[in-house]
Amino acid sequence: MQAHALSDTGSFDSSAERLNLVGLAPDALAEFFEGLGEKRFRARQIMRWVYQRGVLDFSEMTDISLRLRRELQQIACLDLPQVIRVEESADGTRKWLVDVGGGQAIETVYIPEPNRSTLCISSQAGCAMDCSFCATGHSGFNRNLGAEEILGQVLLANRALAAPGESPAPHRDRRGSRQGLPGSSSSITNVVFMGMGEPLANYKQVVPVAKLLTDDHGLGLSRRRVTISTAGLVPQIRRLAAECNVALAVSLHAPTDEVRDELVPINRRHPIAELLQACWHYAEGLASRQITFEYVMLDGVNDSLRDAARLATLLRDRPAKVNLIPFNSFPGTAYRCSSPEVIERFCTHLRSRGIVATIRRTRGDDIDAACGQLAGQVTNRVRARLGDKRFRGARICAQ
Ligand code: SAH
Repeated sequence: MQAHALSDTGSFDSSAERLNLVGLAPDALAEFFEGLGEKRFRARQIMRWVYQRGVLDFSEMTDISLRLRRELQQIACLDLPQVIRVEESADGTRKWLVDVGGGQAIETVYIPEPNRSTLCISSQAGCAMDCSFCATGHSGFNRNLGAEEILGQVLLANRALAAPGESPAPHRDRRGSRQGLPGSSSSITNVVFMGMGEPLANYKQVVPVAKLLTDDHGLGLSRRRVTISTAGLVPQIRRLAAECNVALAVSLHAPTDEVRDELVPINRRHPIAELLQACWHYAEGLASRQITFEYVMLDGVNDSLRDAARLATLLRDRPAKVNLIPFNSFPGTAYRCSSPEVIERFCTHLRSRGIVATIRRTRGDDIDAACGQLAGQVTNRVRARLGDKRFRGARICAQ
């Protein structure tokens, strides 16, 4: 098979027609080498260089023959998207503005904490879900990111954090073993698909990335340290359960369809009861792990004790935990965040009803890197919006 026959699964450097191997699924990479008359295990060798040692130059891959290295330089590449700007928050949170071509830019956020450090990655340029309280949705949707652009965010953050002069202390587990991505001094221990975009609307590109993040020859993270967050695309949740059982977070945000229809318009297509059925099905494959339900706290909209009681009824005795997110404001929004007392009271009420609940500490809001503040630079290409009153569910997914 010729390298260019892979145009469905990889992306080409258009100037030279070279296939970018970053983000290519292990099977597709093995097929690529077979097409060159090589053994399939070359795929594992390349994966270890790229994902475990952070090497992006074929000439440095010394366990590969000189002849093959030269051939790879002609027909393939290992390109990462370009960083336009980096900002660092007073709390150590870092945000990269990343160029994805065509005037579009997406954002990636690194959130260091005492016991772990999380990289929050984007899966689309913009978002078509049109959630009424989210800055990304307000700027509209442009396009799905390719696997190389999604995984490229992890590689570029990893390189930046491992660069000379950077010394983020690697996290250690209880036994003192080093955690985080292999082969670098970076401290990324968790990856969450909670940046710009709806990951399950870009299923074909997101799933190979999730698999490479957890593959032993890839980045080697445990499945519970990779989280896909969704607004509630039910068919894709069911598919994911069968294909790639990483941790799941669901943006619930309201205990009734009436309120959720307004906040998360995809609810009109897949209402709460249907969504929760898919969640409990998903949880069966998680071996006693829970699904996280995200719940943004909006003053006077979804934050009453009655809402808390209803939420508890939905989730009681289920493999569920609730993460309350203080609403992060952005220009042009009419929503306000619930007061700290109201959030605390809501949380206490859930706990009194036996629900595991936490309040997410806001990070990086001084650089607009907090949940829902990522806007990047996106040109809207969607005419009908999910949240439009007159528009009821004719077109749902971005693809
Ligand atoms: N499309 C995915 C990922 C979105 S971002 C999803 O919907 O889950 C991750 C979380 O941030 C989601 O729960 C999202 O609803 C929440 N969020 C969006 N805007 C927010 C805002 N302004 N303040 C707080 N959280 C917000």
